[in-house]
Amino acid sequence: VTVLSRPEYDAVVVGARCGGAATAMLLAREGMRVLLLDRARRGSDTLSTHALMRGGALLLQRWGILDQIAAAGTPPVRHTRFHYGDPQRGDETVTVTLKPVAGIEALYAPRRTLLDVLLADAAVAAGAEVRFGVAVTDLLRDGTGRIAGVTGRDRAGSDVRVSAGLTVGADGIRSVVARRAGARTRWLGSGSGAVIYGYWSGLAVIGYEWFYRPGASAGLIPTNGGEVCVFAGTSTDRFAAEMVGDLRGGYHRLLEEATGGAAGRLAAAQPPRRLRAFPGRPSYLREAAGPGWALVGDAGGFLDPLSTHGITDALRDAQLLARAVADGRRGEASEASALSRYGNLRDEITSPLYRVMDQVAGYQWDLPTLRRLLRESSSAMSAEVEAISHLTGNIGASVLA
Ligand SMILES: Cc1cc2nc3c(=O)[nH]c(=O)nc-3n(C[C@H](O)[C@H](O)[C@H](O)COP(=O)(O)OP(=O)(O)OC[C@H]3O[C@@H](n4cnc5c(N)ncnc54)[C@H](O)[C@@H]3O)c2cc1C
Repeated sequence: VTVLSRPEYDAVVVGARCGGAATAMLLAREGMRVLLLDRARRGSDTLSTHALMRGGALLLQRWGILDQIAAAGTPPVRHTRFHYGDPQRGDETVTVTLKPVAGIEALYAPRRTLLDVLLADAAVAAGAEVRFGVAVTDLLRDGTGRIAGVTGRDRAGSDVRVSAGLTVGADGIRSVVARRAGARTRWLGSGSGAVIYGYWSGLAVIGYEWFYRPGASAGLIPTNGGEVCVFAGTSTDRFAAEMVGDLRGGYHRLLEEATGGAAGRLAAAQPPRRLRAFPGRPSYLREAAGPGWALVGDAGGFLDPLSTHGITDALRDAQLLARAVADGRRGEASEASALSRYGNLRDEITSPLYRVMDQVAGYQWDLPTLRRLLRESSSAMSAEVEAISHLTGNIGASVLA
Protein backbone atom coordinates (compact mmCIF):
# COMPACT_ATOMS: atom_id res chain seq x y z
CA VAL A 1 0.00 0.00 0.00
CA THR A 2 1.38 3.42 -0.97
CA VAL A 3 2.27 5.41 2.10
CA LEU A 4 0.37 8.70 2.22
CA SER A 5 1.54 11.45 4.46
CA ARG A 6 -1.42 11.25 6.83
CA PRO A 7 -3.36 8.41 8.38
CA GLU A 8 -6.56 10.38 7.82
CA TYR A 9 -7.54 13.47 5.85
CA ASP A 10 -10.40 15.87 6.47
CA ALA A 11 -11.26 15.56 2.79
CA VAL A 12 -10.18 13.53 -0.22
CA VAL A 13 -11.10 14.99 -3.60
CA VAL A 14 -11.18 12.69 -6.63
CA GLY A 15 -10.48 14.52 -9.91
CA ALA A 16 -8.05 17.45 -10.13
CA ARG A 17 -9.51 19.60 -12.89
CA CYS A 18 -11.63 22.74 -12.54
CA GLY A 19 -14.19 21.24 -10.10
CA GLY A 20 -11.86 19.15 -7.94
CA ALA A 21 -8.82 21.43 -7.86
CA ALA A 22 -11.01 24.42 -6.94
CA THR A 23 -12.73 22.40 -4.19
CA ALA A 24 -9.40 21.22 -2.77
CA MET A 25 -8.05 24.78 -2.85
CA LEU A 26 -11.08 26.20 -1.02
CA LEU A 27 -11.20 23.43 1.61
CA ALA A 28 -7.45 23.78 2.24
CA ARG A 29 -7.91 27.54 2.60
CA GLU A 30 -10.42 26.69 5.35
CA GLY A 31 -7.55 24.96 7.15
CA MET A 32 -8.62 21.43 6.27
CA ARG A 33 -6.18 18.60 5.57
CA VAL A 34 -6.96 17.82 1.96
CA LEU A 35 -5.75 15.19 -0.51
CA LEU A 36 -6.45 15.76 -4.22
CA LEU A 37 -6.16 12.75 -6.55
CA ASP A 38 -6.33 12.34 -10.30
CA ARG A 39 -5.55 9.38 -12.49
CA ALA A 40 -4.42 11.69 -15.31
CA ARG A 41 -1.08 13.44 -15.65
CA ARG A 42 -0.65 17.00 -14.37
CA GLY A 43 -1.32 19.43 -17.18
CA SER A 44 -3.05 16.98 -19.52
CA ASP A 45 -5.73 18.31 -21.86
CA THR A 46 -9.40 17.33 -21.94
CA LEU A 47 -12.40 17.73 -24.25
CA SER A 48 -13.60 21.30 -23.84
CA THR A 49 -14.00 24.53 -25.76
CA HIS A 50 -13.15 26.26 -22.45
CA ALA A 51 -15.28 29.43 -22.64
CA LEU A 52 -15.95 30.85 -19.18
CA MET A 53 -19.25 32.53 -18.41
CA ARG A 54 -19.52 35.45 -16.00
CA GLY A 55 -20.14 33.40 -12.86
CA GLY A 56 -16.97 31.40 -13.49
CA ALA A 57 -14.88 34.50 -14.18
CA LEU A 58 -16.25 36.11 -11.03
CA LEU A 59 -15.25 33.15 -8.86
CA LEU A 60 -11.77 32.91 -10.39
CA GLN A 61 -11.32 36.60 -9.70
CA ARG A 62 -12.45 36.24 -6.07
CA TRP A 63 -9.99 33.38 -5.63
CA GLY A 64 -7.07 35.33 -7.13
CA ILE A 65 -6.73 33.14 -10.24
CA LEU A 66 -8.18 35.38 -12.95
CA ASP A 67 -5.14 37.69 -12.95
CA GLN A 68 -2.91 34.69 -13.57
CA ILE A 69 -5.09 33.65 -16.49
CA ALA A 70 -4.79 37.14 -17.98
CA ALA A 71 -1.05 37.24 -17.26
CA ALA A 72 -0.64 33.99 -19.23
CA GLY A 73 -1.73 35.88 -22.34
CA THR A 74 -5.31 34.58 -22.46
CA PRO A 75 -7.17 37.13 -24.61
CA PRO A 76 -9.84 39.14 -22.77
CA VAL A 77 -13.36 38.80 -24.16
CA ARG A 78 -15.40 41.98 -23.81
CA HIS A 79 -18.05 41.38 -26.47
CA THR A 80 -20.33 38.50 -27.37
CA ARG A 81 -21.87 38.50 -30.83
CA PHE A 82 -24.90 36.36 -31.64
CA HIS A 83 -25.49 35.57 -35.34
CA TYR A 84 -28.94 34.25 -36.13
CA GLY A 85 -30.29 32.73 -39.33
CA ASP A 86 -29.22 32.12 -42.89
CA PRO A 87 -25.77 33.60 -43.41
CA GLN A 88 -26.24 33.64 -47.20
CA ARG A 89 -29.18 35.97 -46.91
CA GLY A 90 -27.43 38.25 -44.47
CA ASP A 91 -27.85 37.02 -40.91
CA GLU A 92 -29.05 39.11 -38.05
CA THR A 93 -26.42 39.91 -35.46
CA VAL A 94 -26.76 41.14 -31.91
CA THR A 95 -23.65 42.26 -30.04
CA VAL A 96 -23.61 42.37 -26.25
CA THR A 97 -20.84 44.26 -24.48
CA LEU A 98 -19.87 42.97 -21.06
CA LYS A 99 -20.73 45.44 -18.35
CA PRO A 100 -17.65 45.91 -16.17
CA VAL A 101 -19.14 45.16 -12.78
CA ALA A 102 -17.84 43.52 -9.64
CA GLY A 103 -14.31 43.90 -10.95
CA ILE A 104 -15.01 41.65 -13.96
CA GLU A 105 -13.99 43.60 -17.03
CA ALA A 106 -13.60 40.67 -19.35
CA LEU A 107 -14.35 36.99 -19.77
CA TYR A 108 -11.67 34.48 -20.73
CA ALA A 109 -11.43 31.09 -22.41
CA PRO A 110 -8.19 29.64 -21.02
CA ARG A 111 -6.93 26.34 -22.37
CA ARG A 112 -7.59 23.60 -19.84
CA THR A 113 -3.86 22.88 -19.77
CA LEU A 114 -3.61 26.33 -18.16
CA LEU A 115 -6.79 26.65 -16.06
CA ASP A 116 -6.69 23.21 -14.46
CA VAL A 117 -2.98 23.54 -13.64
CA LEU A 118 -3.39 27.01 -12.09
CA LEU A 119 -6.16 25.66 -9.86
CA ALA A 120 -4.20 22.55 -8.85
CA ASP A 121 -1.18 24.73 -8.05
CA ALA A 122 -3.41 27.05 -6.01
CA ALA A 123 -4.64 24.00 -4.08
CA VAL A 124 -1.03 23.08 -3.29
CA ALA A 125 -0.23 26.67 -2.32
CA ALA A 126 -3.19 26.51 0.09
CA GLY A 127 -1.72 23.40 1.71
CA ALA A 128 -3.49 20.55 -0.11
CA GLU A 129 -1.52 17.48 -1.13
CA VAL A 130 -1.91 16.56 -4.78
CA ARG A 131 -1.21 13.16 -6.34
CA PHE A 132 -1.55 12.60 -10.08
CA GLY A 133 -1.49 9.10 -11.53
CA VAL A 134 -3.78 7.63 -8.88
CA ALA A 135 -6.99 5.97 -10.13
CA VAL A 136 -9.74 5.61 -7.55
CA THR A 137 -11.60 2.34 -7.87
CA ASP A 138 -13.87 2.18 -4.82
CA LEU A 139 -15.01 3.92 -1.66
CA LEU A 140 -14.44 3.03 1.99
CA ARG A 141 -17.40 2.87 4.39
CA ASP A 142 -17.46 2.95 8.15
CA GLY A 143 -19.58 0.63 10.31
CA THR A 144 -22.67 2.78 9.75
CA GLY A 145 -22.36 2.73 5.97
CA ARG A 146 -21.12 6.30 5.81
CA ILE A 147 -18.54 6.97 3.11
CA ALA A 148 -15.12 7.22 4.77
CA GLY A 149 -12.53 7.57 2.00
CA VAL A 150 -11.33 5.88 -1.17
CA THR A 151 -9.26 3.00 -2.45
CA GLY A 152 -7.38 2.90 -5.71
CA ARG A 153 -4.16 2.21 -7.48
CA ASP A 154 -1.20 4.33 -8.47
CA ARG A 155 0.80 4.16 -11.73
CA ALA A 156 3.36 1.82 -10.19
CA GLY A 157 0.54 -0.64 -9.49
CA SER A 158 0.54 -0.09 -5.72
CA ASP A 159 -2.76 -0.09 -3.87
CA VAL A 160 -3.80 3.21 -2.34
CA ARG A 161 -6.14 3.57 0.62
CA VAL A 162 -7.21 6.96 1.92
CA SER A 163 -9.34 7.59 5.01
CA ALA A 164 -11.17 10.90 4.99
CA GLY A 165 -14.02 12.64 6.76
CA LEU A 166 -15.42 13.89 3.45
CA THR A 167 -15.04 12.26 0.03
CA VAL A 168 -15.63 14.61 -2.90
CA GLY A 169 -16.31 13.22 -6.37
CA ALA A 170 -15.00 15.66 -8.97
CA ASP A 171 -14.33 12.78 -11.32
CA GLY A 172 -16.46 13.79 -14.26
CA ILE A 173 -19.30 12.20 -16.20
CA ARG A 174 -18.39 8.59 -15.43
CA SER A 175 -17.82 9.38 -11.76
CA VAL A 176 -16.77 6.37 -9.71
CA VAL A 177 -17.64 8.29 -6.53
CA ALA A 178 -21.21 8.92 -7.74
CA ARG A 179 -21.67 5.29 -8.72
CA ARG A 180 -20.16 3.76 -5.59
CA ALA A 181 -21.91 6.22 -3.26
CA GLY A 182 -25.19 5.35 -4.96
CA ALA A 183 -26.03 8.92 -6.06
CA ARG A 184 -29.41 8.80 -7.73
CA THR A 185 -30.18 10.66 -10.95
CA ARG A 186 -32.48 13.52 -10.03
CA TRP A 187 -33.21 14.80 -13.51
CA LEU A 188 -32.39 13.54 -16.99
CA GLY A 189 -32.63 15.76 -20.04
CA SER A 190 -33.81 14.70 -23.47
CA GLY A 191 -31.82 17.02 -25.76
CA SER A 192 -28.35 16.02 -26.87
CA GLY A 193 -25.96 17.95 -29.11
CA ALA A 194 -22.71 16.88 -30.76
CA VAL A 195 -19.70 19.17 -31.06
CA ILE A 196 -16.68 19.07 -33.39
CA TYR A 197 -13.91 21.57 -32.74
CA GLY A 198 -10.36 22.58 -33.50
CA TYR A 199 -7.94 25.50 -33.13
CA TRP A 200 -7.56 28.05 -35.92
CA SER A 201 -4.84 30.65 -36.32
CA GLY A 202 -5.06 34.01 -38.03
CA LEU A 203 -8.79 34.26 -37.40
CA ALA A 204 -10.14 37.70 -36.47
CA VAL A 205 -12.95 37.66 -33.86
CA ILE A 206 -14.77 40.31 -31.90
CA GLY A 207 -14.92 38.21 -28.73
CA TYR A 208 -17.13 35.16 -28.29
CA GLU A 209 -19.22 34.69 -31.43
CA TRP A 210 -22.14 32.27 -31.52
CA PHE A 211 -23.95 31.24 -34.73
CA TYR A 212 -27.37 29.58 -34.76
CA ARG A 213 -29.37 28.14 -37.64
CA PRO A 214 -32.09 25.53 -37.30
CA GLY A 215 -30.23 22.22 -36.98
CA ALA A 216 -26.74 23.74 -36.72
CA SER A 217 -24.64 25.97 -34.52
CA ALA A 218 -21.07 27.23 -34.34
CA GLY A 219 -18.89 29.21 -31.98
CA LEU A 220 -15.66 31.19 -32.24
CA ILE A 221 -13.78 31.32 -28.94
CA PRO A 222 -10.46 33.19 -28.68
CA THR A 223 -7.95 31.33 -26.51
CA ASN A 224 -4.24 31.12 -25.67
CA GLY A 225 -1.41 31.19 -28.19
CA GLY A 226 -3.24 33.48 -30.62
CA GLU A 227 -5.59 30.64 -31.53
CA VAL A 228 -9.36 30.62 -31.86
CA CYS A 229 -11.26 27.51 -30.85
CA VAL A 230 -13.97 27.01 -33.49
CA PHE A 231 -16.73 24.53 -32.83
CA ALA A 232 -19.53 23.30 -35.06
CA GLY A 233 -22.55 21.69 -33.45
CA THR A 234 -25.59 19.69 -34.44
CA SER A 235 -27.88 17.09 -32.93
CA THR A 236 -26.38 13.79 -31.80
CA ASP A 237 -28.62 11.97 -34.31
CA ARG A 238 -27.41 14.00 -37.25
CA PHE A 239 -23.82 13.68 -36.10
CA ALA A 240 -24.20 9.90 -36.01
CA ALA A 241 -25.85 9.79 -39.43
CA GLU A 242 -23.62 12.24 -41.32
CA MET A 243 -20.38 13.04 -39.55
CA VAL A 244 -18.93 10.00 -37.84
CA GLY A 245 -17.19 8.56 -40.90
CA ASP A 246 -16.09 11.95 -42.22
CA LEU A 247 -15.33 14.24 -39.31
CA ARG A 248 -13.39 16.84 -41.29
CA GLY A 249 -15.91 17.01 -44.12
CA GLY A 250 -18.77 17.14 -41.63
CA TYR A 251 -17.05 19.89 -39.62
CA HIS A 252 -16.53 22.14 -42.63
CA ARG A 253 -20.04 21.50 -43.97
CA LEU A 254 -21.59 22.35 -40.61
CA LEU A 255 -19.44 25.44 -40.26
CA GLU A 256 -20.45 26.62 -43.72
CA GLU A 257 -24.10 25.96 -42.91
CA ALA A 258 -24.00 27.79 -39.58
CA THR A 259 -21.62 30.65 -40.39
CA GLY A 260 -21.57 30.98 -44.18
CA GLY A 261 -17.79 31.19 -43.78
CA ALA A 262 -18.11 34.04 -41.25
CA ALA A 263 -18.02 36.68 -43.98
CA GLY A 264 -14.84 35.32 -45.56
CA ARG A 265 -12.96 35.18 -42.27
CA LEU A 266 -12.67 31.39 -42.15
CA ALA A 267 -11.27 31.20 -45.70
CA ALA A 268 -8.60 33.74 -44.76
CA ALA A 269 -7.53 31.83 -41.65
CA GLN A 270 -5.49 28.67 -41.03
CA PRO A 271 -7.78 25.71 -40.24
CA PRO A 272 -6.90 23.15 -37.57
CA ARG A 273 -4.74 20.15 -38.32
CA ARG A 274 -6.47 18.11 -35.64
CA LEU A 275 -10.17 17.93 -34.82
CA ARG A 276 -11.84 16.69 -31.65
CA ALA A 277 -15.41 15.50 -31.42
CA PHE A 278 -17.96 14.87 -28.70
CA PRO A 279 -21.02 12.90 -29.88
CA GLY A 280 -23.18 14.31 -27.09
CA ARG A 281 -25.24 12.84 -24.30
CA PRO A 282 -28.34 13.98 -22.44
CA SER A 283 -27.77 16.37 -19.56
CA TYR A 284 -28.40 15.12 -16.02
CA LEU A 285 -28.42 16.20 -12.42
CA ARG A 286 -27.43 13.64 -9.80
CA GLU A 287 -28.01 13.80 -6.09
CA ALA A 288 -25.25 16.16 -4.93
CA ALA A 289 -24.36 14.76 -1.52
CA GLY A 290 -25.00 12.16 1.16
CA PRO A 291 -23.39 10.92 4.38
CA GLY A 292 -19.67 11.57 4.04
CA TRP A 293 -19.71 12.35 0.30
CA ALA A 294 -20.45 15.12 -2.17
CA LEU A 295 -20.22 15.59 -5.93
CA VAL A 296 -19.05 18.70 -7.79
CA GLY A 297 -18.89 19.56 -11.47
CA ASP A 298 -19.72 16.99 -14.13
CA ALA A 299 -19.76 14.21 -11.54
CA GLY A 300 -22.89 15.78 -10.07
CA GLY A 301 -24.43 17.43 -13.10
CA PHE A 302 -23.72 17.55 -16.82
CA LEU A 303 -24.98 20.37 -18.99
CA ASP A 304 -24.80 20.17 -22.79
CA PRO A 305 -21.59 21.80 -24.11
CA LEU A 306 -23.65 24.24 -26.21
CA SER A 307 -24.28 26.05 -22.92
CA THR A 308 -20.50 26.65 -22.56
CA HIS A 309 -21.31 26.57 -18.88
CA GLY A 310 -19.80 23.33 -17.50
CA ILE A 311 -16.65 24.94 -16.11
CA THR A 312 -18.69 27.70 -14.49
CA ASP A 313 -20.94 24.97 -13.01
CA ALA A 314 -17.92 23.14 -11.61
CA LEU A 315 -16.37 26.27 -10.08
CA ARG A 316 -19.70 27.30 -8.59
CA ASP A 317 -20.20 23.84 -7.06
CA ALA A 318 -16.74 24.06 -5.50
CA GLN A 319 -17.64 27.39 -3.90
CA LEU A 320 -21.08 26.20 -2.72
CA LEU A 321 -19.68 23.01 -1.23
CA ALA A 322 -16.72 24.72 0.47
CA ARG A 323 -19.07 27.28 2.01
CA ALA A 324 -21.42 24.56 3.29
CA VAL A 325 -18.54 22.51 4.71
CA ALA A 326 -17.06 25.60 6.40
CA ASP A 327 -20.44 26.37 8.00
CA GLY A 328 -20.57 22.80 9.25
CA ARG A 329 -17.07 23.01 10.72
CA ARG A 330 -17.88 26.25 12.51
CA GLY A 331 -20.80 24.46 14.11
CA GLU A 332 -23.38 26.56 12.27
CA ALA A 333 -24.95 23.44 10.81
CA SER A 334 -24.67 19.70 11.31
CA GLU A 335 -22.70 17.93 8.60
CA ALA A 336 -25.86 16.38 7.22
CA SER A 337 -27.73 19.65 7.00
CA ALA A 338 -24.69 21.49 5.58
CA LEU A 339 -24.36 18.92 2.81
CA SER A 340 -28.05 18.88 2.07
CA ARG A 341 -28.03 22.67 1.95
CA TYR A 342 -25.24 22.41 -0.62
CA GLY A 343 -27.35 20.07 -2.75
CA ASN A 344 -30.48 22.19 -2.48
CA LEU A 345 -28.70 25.39 -3.39
CA ARG A 346 -26.98 23.74 -6.34
CA ASP A 347 -30.32 22.42 -7.61
CA GLU A 348 -32.02 25.76 -7.11
CA ILE A 349 -29.36 27.63 -9.07
CA THR A 350 -28.83 25.08 -11.85
CA SER A 351 -32.34 23.80 -12.56
CA PRO A 352 -33.61 26.80 -14.59
CA LEU A 353 -30.52 26.79 -16.78
CA TYR A 354 -30.56 23.02 -17.22
CA ARG A 355 -34.17 23.02 -18.38
CA VAL A 356 -33.62 25.80 -20.90
CA MET A 357 -30.34 24.45 -22.25
CA ASP A 358 -31.89 21.02 -22.66
CA GLN A 359 -34.25 22.52 -25.23
CA VAL A 360 -31.42 24.38 -26.96
CA ALA A 361 -29.35 21.17 -27.09
CA GLY A 362 -32.20 19.28 -28.76
CA TYR A 363 -32.00 21.42 -31.94
CA GLN A 364 -35.79 21.28 -32.29
CA TRP A 365 -36.13 25.07 -32.34
CA ASP A 366 -36.94 27.69 -34.91
CA LEU A 367 -35.10 30.99 -34.52
CA PRO A 368 -37.78 32.91 -32.57
CA THR A 369 -37.98 30.02 -30.09
CA LEU A 370 -34.20 29.85 -29.84
CA ARG A 371 -33.94 33.56 -29.11
CA ARG A 372 -36.51 33.23 -26.34
CA LEU A 373 -34.59 30.28 -24.89
CA LEU A 374 -31.31 32.20 -25.00
CA ARG A 375 -32.92 35.14 -23.22
CA GLU A 376 -34.15 32.74 -20.54
CA SER A 377 -30.70 31.20 -20.23
CA SER A 378 -29.17 34.67 -19.87
CA SER A 379 -31.60 35.46 -17.00
CA ALA A 380 -30.75 32.15 -15.32
CA MET A 381 -27.03 32.98 -15.56
CA SER A 382 -27.64 36.46 -14.12
CA ALA A 383 -29.47 34.90 -11.17
CA GLU A 384 -26.51 32.57 -10.76
CA VAL A 385 -24.07 35.49 -10.71
CA GLU A 386 -26.20 37.15 -8.06
CA ALA A 387 -26.24 33.99 -5.94
CA ILE A 388 -22.48 33.60 -6.31
CA SER A 389 -21.89 37.21 -5.35
CA HIS A 390 -23.87 36.71 -2.13
CA LEU A 391 -21.85 33.63 -1.42
CA THR A 392 -18.44 35.19 -1.87
CA GLY A 393 -19.50 38.35 -0.06
CA ASN A 394 -18.42 41.98 -0.43
CA ILE A 395 -19.80 42.34 -3.90
CA GLY A 396 -23.37 43.37 -3.39
CA ALA A 397 -26.22 43.83 -5.76
CA SER A 398 -24.20 45.99 -8.16
CA VAL A 399 -23.26 42.81 -10.05
CA LEU A 400 -26.50 42.97 -12.00
CA ALA A 401 -26.41 46.73 -12.64
C1 LIG B 1 -16.95 19.12 -26.32
C2 LIG B 1 -17.09 19.86 -25.03
C3 LIG B 1 -16.98 21.24 -25.02
C4 LIG B 1 -17.15 21.94 -23.82
N1 LIG B 1 -17.03 23.29 -23.84
C5 LIG B 1 -17.18 23.99 -22.68
C6 LIG B 1 -17.05 25.42 -22.67
O1 LIG B 1 -16.81 26.07 -23.70
N2 LIG B 1 -17.21 26.07 -21.49
C7 LIG B 1 -17.50 25.38 -20.34
O2 LIG B 1 -17.67 26.02 -19.31
N3 LIG B 1 -17.63 24.04 -20.33
C8 LIG B 1 -17.47 23.34 -21.47
N4 LIG B 1 -17.58 21.98 -21.45
C9 LIG B 1 -17.86 21.31 -20.18
C10 LIG B 1 -16.62 21.22 -19.31
O3 LIG B 1 -15.54 20.71 -20.05
C11 LIG B 1 -16.92 20.31 -18.12
O4 LIG B 1 -18.12 20.71 -17.53
C12 LIG B 1 -15.79 20.39 -17.10
O5 LIG B 1 -14.61 19.84 -17.62
C13 LIG B 1 -16.17 19.65 -15.82
O6 LIG B 1 -15.09 19.76 -14.94
P1 LIG B 1 -14.92 18.73 -13.76
O7 LIG B 1 -13.75 19.23 -12.97
O8 LIG B 1 -16.21 18.51 -13.11
O9 LIG B 1 -14.59 17.32 -14.42
P2 LIG B 1 -13.63 16.86 -15.59
O10 LIG B 1 -13.08 18.00 -16.37
O11 LIG B 1 -14.39 15.81 -16.33
O12 LIG B 1 -12.41 16.19 -14.82
C14 LIG B 1 -12.56 14.99 -14.13
C15 LIG B 1 -11.19 14.51 -13.70
O13 LIG B 1 -11.38 13.37 -12.88
C16 LIG B 1 -10.39 12.43 -13.18
N5 LIG B 1 -10.92 11.11 -12.86
C17 LIG B 1 -12.02 10.51 -13.39
N6 LIG B 1 -12.20 9.32 -12.82
C18 LIG B 1 -11.21 9.16 -11.92
C19 LIG B 1 -10.85 8.11 -11.03
N7 LIG B 1 -11.58 6.99 -10.97
N8 LIG B 1 -9.77 8.25 -10.26
C20 LIG B 1 -9.02 9.39 -10.31
N9 LIG B 1 -9.31 10.41 -11.15
C21 LIG B 1 -10.38 10.29 -11.93
C22 LIG B 1 -10.13 12.58 -14.67
O14 LIG B 1 -8.83 12.12 -14.99
C23 LIG B 1 -10.30 14.09 -14.86
O15 LIG B 1 -9.06 14.77 -14.78
C24 LIG B 1 -17.43 21.25 -22.64
C25 LIG B 1 -17.55 19.86 -22.64
C26 LIG B 1 -17.38 19.17 -23.82
C27 LIG B 1 -17.49 17.68 -23.80
